[in-house]
Formats: sequence, C-alpha cells, structure tokens
Amino acid sequence: MAGAGTCGEPWSRGVARDEAGALTVAGVPVAELAERFGTPAYVLDEDDLRERARAYRRAFEAAFAEFGAGVDVYYAGKAFLSVAVARWVHEEGLRVDTASGGELAVALRAGVPGADIGLHGNNKSDDELRQALAAGVGRIIVDSLVEVDRVADLAAAAGVVAPVMVRVTTGVHAGGHEFISTAHEDQKFGLSIAAGGDEQGSDSPAMRGLLAVLARPELRLLGIHSHIGSQILDPSGFEVAAAAVLRLRADLAERSGVLVAEVDLGGGYGIAYLPGEVALDADRIAKDVASSVAASAAELGTPLPRFSIEPGRAIVGPAGLTLYTVGTVKPVRLDDDRTRLYVSVDGGMSDNIRPALYGARYHAELASRTSDAEPVLARVVGKHCESGDIVVHEVDLPADVRAGDLLAVPATGAYGRSMASNYNLLTRPPVVAVRGGQARTLVRRETVDDLLALDQG
Ligand SMILES: *Cc1c(COP(=O)(O)O)cnc(C)c1O
Repeated sequence: MAGAGTCGEPWSRGVARDEAGALTVAGVPVAELAERFGTPAYVLDEDDLRERARAYRRAFEAAFAEFGAGVDVYYAGKAFLSVAVARWVHEEGLRVDTASGGELAVALRAGVPGADIGLHGNNKSDDELRQALAAGVGRIIVDSLVEVDRVADLAAAAGVVAPVMVRVTTGVHAGGHEFISTAHEDQKFGLSIAAGGDEQGSDSPAMRGLLAVLARPELRLLGIHSHIGSQILDPSGFEVAAAAVLRLRADLAERSGVLVAEVDLGGGYGIAYLPGEVALDADRIAKDVASSVAASAAELGTPLPRFSIEPGRAIVGPAGLTLYTVGTVKPVRLDDDRTRLYVSVDGGMSDNIRPALYGARYHAELASRTSDAEPVLARVVGKHCESGDIVVHEVDLPADVRAGDLLAVPATGAYGRSMASNYNLLTRPPVVAVRGGQARTLVRRETVDDLLALDQG
C-alpha cells in the first residue's frame, strides 16, 4: 500500500497516518489543513522545529564543554524567518542571524534582543548598517576591507563601538557528499586566508581585514567567521576549515598581541530530503568538530575561543512540508518505452525553486488517502510556463493518482517560502504552524489584491 509507511526521515516527527490512511501533521489531517488554508500551503511542525533547535544547542554545548569551551547557536534566518519562528528559536536558547534589513526587522519585531542578533551580507547598505547599530546587534560580520571603514565611520557617526567579526574564506568548499580544499576561492564572500592575497608577499586579505579592524577604535574585534557551504553531510570540511581559522587566530595574536575571543564555524548541516538519506547527526558532528578543534588549538598552544555555529536548514527544513492539490495527470511515453506519469500540482517553481536552481531532489506522497493501485514512475510538476518547473524529479506514485488528491512533499521548511517568487503572478502560499492538534497561520497567503496593490498602473 503506497504511502502507508509514512514516518521517519525525511518527514517531521509529527507526521503520521490516521486509520483511514490520511496523512496527519501533529494530529491534524491534511484534508482539514487544505480545507481551511487552501493549497499550496507550507505546513510547519512547531514541536519538531523546536526539538531540532534544542538538539543542536545541547549537542554543541555538551561536546564543547568537554574541552572547556562555550558555544552560541545562531539560527540562520534566511532559511525561513517569520516573527513566530524567530520567537520559537529564541525561546529554545538560540540567537538569530540575519542577512538584510528585512530579516533584521522581523527578528526585532519578534522581540529578539539586538544583542542576540547577528548581521551578515557581502553588500550591506548604509541603511542596513545604521539599523543594526541602532538596534545594538551583538555582531556585524564584516565581509570586505571596504566594509571595515564603512562600519567604523557609521559607528563613529552613531557614537557607538560596533562589535564585529571578520568573515574569512579558508579554501574549503563543502556541500552534498564531498568537500574540496583549494588555496584561492573564486566567489564573492569573505576575505581569503591564502598568503599573498592580491599582492605577492603581502599579508593575506583576511589578515589585512583583521588588522584594519584592530586599527579602528570604533570597532571591537570579536573574532573570526568561516562558513564553508550548505547541505554538508561530511564533517571533515568543518574540521579542515576550523583548523585553518585557529591558525589564523594564532598568527594574528603573534602579529598584534590580540588573541580574539570568538570563532564562528558557520552553518550548512545537511538534512535528509529523500527516504533512505541520512541527515548529519548533531551529536556526532558536534563531538567530531569539538575534538578536532581542541587538538588544533593544543597544537598551536592557544586556549580555545568561544565558538558559534549557524544552522538554518537543519532546524527548519525537516520541520516543514508542502501540501499541494493534484490538477492534471498525463502519461508521457519515454524514449526507452517506459511511461512517466506527469502529475501537475497547483504550485511549482514559485514555491520551491530549489529543483530548478540546483537540481535538488525531493520526495512526494499521496497524502489525502492511501491506494492499493500499483506504483508507477511519476514526475511532480508545477503550473508555471517552464518545462523545468519540476517539484519532484522522480518518485513512485500510485497509478490511480488523480485530480483532487493531496500530495505532500517533505523537507521544504528551509529555502522554500524564503526563496518563493510571484512568477506567473502566482500568489505566495501561506505558512501554517501545527502543534498539538491545532493549526494557525504564521504568514497568510498572498492575494491578487496584494499583487494589484503593488502595481501603480
Ligand atoms: C546560508 C548560511 C547559513 C545557513 O546555512 P544552512 O545550510 O541553512 O545551515 C549560515 N551562515 C551563513 C553565513 C550563511 O550564508
């Protein structure tokens, strides 16, 4: 019976099937959610999200405490941020990372104190920086040499001392199943630790950035920041990058006499998207990274700094699913004589751009019922005017899947709503939270009136 076994990864913990075979989230049947909120809809399992936030905080706190080091966990708000979600993660002891004035405004609206907020970005505007300084954010992650002076000048004008970290690139790129390490990086973020930088024989851009911060009294240098990638399933990339950052920290101490107090290891902890995939285990990665950085610090003869990490996807991704209604179903004969069933749903690349953007793979199940029909090769597609508008590239669905059925796609909590667009002038779906048998709207569905209100004719 297709779909009868729905539970475990990649589904959130609150997902189950009721006696009739319908999918439920935290006790609420999907048909009830569809009826009340419409489809497509993003459904967030609040307890699951809170549990993942706690699990990351506890795992890292415990693992680093073994070596006498403290850890702060920042939720990377770009994965998905709303007032309620910012409040939940803060209640669970996390801080919040933002990467724009909009994300900062949402975190502040949620009541997260400025001191518990970080501001990222490779091209922050003066307005965003002023907003951050006025809110008293706990840290601004400086991304370029130009920005050192920009932040310092704005801090001087505001009459404050800005707490900053310098984002560096270690040459480690990670994501998916492997990582690569190179001396130089051809991408826009951070300052390279590779010696020489753009002038042969001179300090690395990272060292120059750190020294430039120390030279400005309007800036307080908290530490060094490194983020190596996303959807990482192999812990070795974190360890190689952390060792490089600790070495830079020791070099800076030698040069300037200042041993910075903090090191941020970034986010990127991978999750399961498909049945059978295994997420990075928080306890295991925390222990591996803690013992690795302790060994690096011992080798360098420096005490351990305070660490921070920035998981986004791993907190909110598995807690969310997208609910769609099937519209049309069309069998298409393939070159190898197989048949693929094209199942069109009422959303698509406007609510989940990841398959089109990265070739990301997802899973789907018939959610409103179970079926005894034989499973057939299917592709779930959206309603946009692009043949690349694919929701689920390849999945077995029961042969009798038909108009009106509800499909659920798991693990869409991260980078779904946050990357959603109005392509084809579709209205962006709501985000609905479910907990203990109760559902409520966190972000309402856009309406055509919203779209028309933006259009000035
Ligand atoms: C995107 C990002 C994160 C979060 O990445 P996830 O893969 O969602 O964990 C953390 N830190 C920085 C600097 C980022 O750009």
